[in-house]
Amino acid sequence: MTCAEAQEFITALIDQELGQAERSSLEVHLSECSGCRLAFEEESALKQQIREAARGINAPAHLRSRILSDPRIFPEKNRSARRWQDYLRPMPALLRPILALALLLAIALPAFYFFKPGSEPIALAALETYDRFLGGELPVQRTENADELVGQLTRSVGGHFHPMGYDLTAMNLRPVAGLVREIDGRKILVVIYEGQGGTLICYTFLGAEKDAPPNAARFFDAAKKMNFYAFSRGGVNAVLHREGEIICILASQMPMEELLALAKSKANPS
Ligand SMILES: [Zn+2]
Repeated sequence: MTCAEAQEFITALIDQELGQAERSSLEVHLSECSGCRLAFEEESALKQQIREAARGINAPAHLRSRILSDPRIFPEKNRSARRWQDYLRPMPALLRPILALALLLAIALPAFYFFKPGSEPIALAALETYDRFLGGELPVQRTENADELVGQLTRSVGGHFHPMGYDLTAMNLRPVAGLVREIDGRKILVVIYEGQGGTLICYTFLGAEKDAPPNAARFFDAAKKMNFYAFSRGGVNAVLHREGEIICILASQMPMEELLALAKSKANPS
């Protein structure tokens, strides 16, 4: 085996992908050639470092399942047949660990910054409540009395602002529970509506229009002279608007057009 051939096989050896015959002749070469042995040791160490660096990084479960089930990322017909390493196969052996590291950094670094507390737009972070409520994971104050709910939430922020307290009975939705969430040191009043119309959550907090996610679609309502920002997260649609210093977000699984129309009908120009 020549050094050039050995270099081609080193990565495959580390990945335990060599056949018995190739492995034996590569091992013979490595025992005789210090240059290739060094390359083998360096690549092993690099692989180990990548493995260790990746160990502490965990994407949230819902993100993982979304990525894994996205046919644009993992085409259905190839999902079980090919592994990600297979895409690196045509590459020269020495480039593969470099590409693997670059891939890891490209995936891990944004994930690291994105999921660091405080780096996600508050409007998106707030929506997480929606799934957690439906999953029964939230310690909510259940009440039948809407006025009491509004009063409790208002007191929890020292009376500085109050939840929108919309009357949505026309849509077969009534307030059933409320809670206060704190994101980035900002308190968010959360009012949960339920009924035949499904589930709708109204978030209220002190903020500005820049609290809308950067990729939200902006709709200008000429009659009310207000902006409405539409965005979604994990199947939950949301519409954000500003009333003075107050930001209100309506979130629901109802179609975006309906939610937008609802937000526009309820919003008060400030
Ligand atoms: Zn060699």
